Amino acid sequence: MKNDYDVRHLHVAAFARAAGQLVGEERLARFDRLMDESKGLGGELPVRFTVHGDIRPDAAGADAVWLRLSAEADVPMTCQRCLGPVDVALAFARDYRFVATEAQAEVEDETSEEDVLAISRDFNVLELIEDELLMELPPVPKHATCPHSVKFQAVDSDYVEEVPEKINPFAVLGRLKNGQ
Ligand SMILES: [Zn+2]
Repeated sequence: MKNDYDVRHLHVAAFARAAGQLVGEERLARFDRLMDESKGLGGELPVRFTVHGDIRPDAAGADAVWLRLSAEADVPMTCQRCLGPVDVALAFARDYRFVATEAQAEVEDETSEEDVLAISRDFNVLELIEDELLMELPPVPKHATCPHSVKFQAVDSDYVEEVPEKINPFAVLGRLKNGQ
């Protein structure tokens, strides 16, 4: 999608004042840290994102600059249950309020529900998207349901136990006692 805004070099305040919107996608290959997680796999997969800017009055009634950001991506990883490949779906949607300086952002971020960032005329939205998607990574990637052909799988309702039923030693003892 072609528009006047550069997602890597966003003038945040101008974008917000214009109630700017960006909808786009980038290949996973452009996100180095996500590619580390996928061990280099899936570089051709899309990372889809939307960015909305607006001005909202703060508690004191002054104009505050906000971005609303959402993104989604599938990142190929290794299932820790069956060790097969699994595409882990990541997604987030979040609002950010921008303030004048890093120091102010640090202080206000502590006490605000929303994320607070320092305003910039050259803001790399893709870097923020990558930060957020990394935070969404599951600690232990795995399939919701592992594929059927998997071996060494511990729990599977369709798996038929072929080991003969274990003899219960207490039942044997009971039969002995009863003279059977
Ligand atoms: Zn699995």
